[in-house]
Amino acid sequence: MTVSRGREFLSIPGPTNVPEQVLAAMNRPAVDIYSGEMIGITDSCLEDLRKIFRTTGRTYIYAANGHGGWEAAISNVLSRGDKVLVLPSGRFALGWGDMARMMGADVEVLEGGWQLAVNPAAVEERLKRDKQHAIKAVVVVQIDTASGVVNDIPAIRKAMDAAKHPALLMVDTVASLGCMPFDMDAWGVDVAMSGSQKGLMTPPGLAFVAANARAREAHQTANMRTLYWDWTFREGEIHYQKYCGTPPEHLLFGLRKAFDMLFDEGLENAIRRHTLLAEATRAAVAKWAEGEVLAFNIPNAPDRANSITCILMRSDPTPLLDYCREKCGVVLGIGLGDLTGKGFRIAHMGYCNAPMVLGTLGAVEMGLKALSIPHGSGGVQAAIEYLGRAVKP
Ligand SMILES: *Cc1c(COP(=O)(O)O)cnc(C)c1O
Repeated sequence: MTVSRGREFLSIPGPTNVPEQVLAAMNRPAVDIYSGEMIGITDSCLEDLRKIFRTTGRTYIYAANGHGGWEAAISNVLSRGDKVLVLPSGRFALGWGDMARMMGADVEVLEGGWQLAVNPAAVEERLKRDKQHAIKAVVVVQIDTASGVVNDIPAIRKAMDAAKHPALLMVDTVASLGCMPFDMDAWGVDVAMSGSQKGLMTPPGLAFVAANARAREAHQTANMRTLYWDWTFREGEIHYQKYCGTPPEHLLFGLRKAFDMLFDEGLENAIRRHTLLAEATRAAVAKWAEGEVLAFNIPNAPDRANSITCILMRSDPTPLLDYCREKCGVVLGIGLGDLTGKGFRIAHMGYCNAPMVLGTLGAVEMGLKALSIPHGSGGVQAAIEYLGRAVKP
């Protein structure tokens, strides 16, 4: 017996739900890569990325996933042997650091944990000790999708300034852009990168990088540069150069539509929507946690991300995930890294609304009941009550 027929709810933290309008915009023949329409889409998407990253710097679009965006960011500003300081808070900054190491950087990982945001004071202390300014870049993620933490990027910039350290600040916004505030110029971020398939509601396959003047100056002497990722080549006049080859046309058709939808809603409203849906999710999880089997992975409430909630479980989470998928048609995120086999993740990221989140929470609660997993009852009720209070008529 199942009640899974119907639309599958993909509640994983990427790829996220792609709106029908975006899929429809992609459903068309290819066009000439030098056509006015294609050039217009490239120019408008590069310009809109500036608005979304909130920068007057340069933006670049790559046919790549987020990992490609990492490589693009590193290769354009660093030289082999450069020291890179990784600020871990889960898995993703570490992954970016591993990539930098393989590309020839001398990578140092600051102490950090899977349940904690980056501590700006520790960053300041480490940078103050680097009197020779050997560290050329500091890399950090805004939201770590594996731990569910949100890092305070302006506070990290303040720590770097307090240490009077010239390293570039490089920020991964793959799981946060379009979901929470990001203000590249005002926050003093030198390089920011993101991907198409999370908050930006487009299928996987596009990576975005934004660079300010300091980053572009570092680019002049960087020796990790390769032609595919190279900013200078991509700044060339010929449309073909913007992608170092054939533009990923259909993804760009989709992206154009997704950006139109985001601006139509309003970036501020999209951010507010993510806050509300995240709070609703947390209201449910807080109730369930009363059973003492489930708990938030991030104990400190202000450090919990608004695009993803990571939940620890004392018992094996597999039966619950299987139940939600097979019996209800709800796909939850598995635990990654330190959370492998010890928890699961609920995404509330990108194109999602109250019924999708309440439906997902409902399936989890149904699974908890069916599998007799101890939990405080009334989680979904708490989510509804929160939204009923917060979303005014
Ligand atoms: C998903 C994700 C990535 C990796 O993106 P891919 O497209 O899978 O390469 C990087 N950083 C963060 C924070 C992510 O959530």
